[in-house]
Amino acid sequence: MIYWILFGAISLISYIVQRNLTKKFDRYSNVPLAANLRGCDIAARMLQQNGIQATIRPVDGTLTDFFNPADMSVNLSTPVFASSSIAAAAVAAHECGHAIQHKTRYSMLVLRTSLVPAVSFASKWVPWVLLAGILLVEAMPQLLLLGIGLFAITTLFSLVTLPVEIDASRRAIAWIEHSGIAQGGTLECAKDALRAAAYTYVVAALASLATLIYYILVYTRRN
Ligand SMILES: [Zn+2]
Repeated sequence: MIYWILFGAISLISYIVQRNLTKKFDRYSNVPLAANLRGCDIAARMLQQNGIQATIRPVDGTLTDFFNPADMSVNLSTPVFASSSIAAAAVAAHECGHAIQHKTRYSMLVLRTSLVPAVSFASKWVPWVLLAGILLVEAMPQLLLLGIGLFAITTLFSLVTLPVEIDASRRAIAWIEHSGIAQGGTLECAKDALRAAAYTYVVAALASLATLIYYILVYTRRN
């Protein structure tokens, strides 16, 4: 019973944090930049100043922005790519923060990247192994143990993602401040938007950790 209350609370918090991010992003999308630079211009400037050659391209969706080290591309969602606002600047600079992490071989990003093959494998099998493990927990407890091992890989991944995301935002804010494209209240908006984004990663990591603990308890408390 207590687990279901816990999972209910986590789902509710995830929902609130996600909604908060969307709300803040919408609000700060209406805060113009004095320099009148679009997200793609911000990215081009930040990459160039850090000596990074990468393609900047628009992608569909909202908050779908990402840096792809495989083809060295900074992919910005259309509202970020084409508009001049503090929200667009914050997101574009954050993705460039990942490009700088890649260039400088930031240790947490290296660790995160090295986990990708194991996580892809684990994510594919973990629902089935856990389901079978729970159903057959009395007859074949090793199966649940295997599921827990696979799930732990995905939990580790979401924990390692945290410092990577926070560091990218830290680099973004430092660059925005240093370049002088936003000051005072406008800079605070950028900080607030990136903080809201970081909360979603914190909640995801906590949810994953709570789920892992739940499966461990199911395993240790079996008869
Ligand atoms: Zn990021």
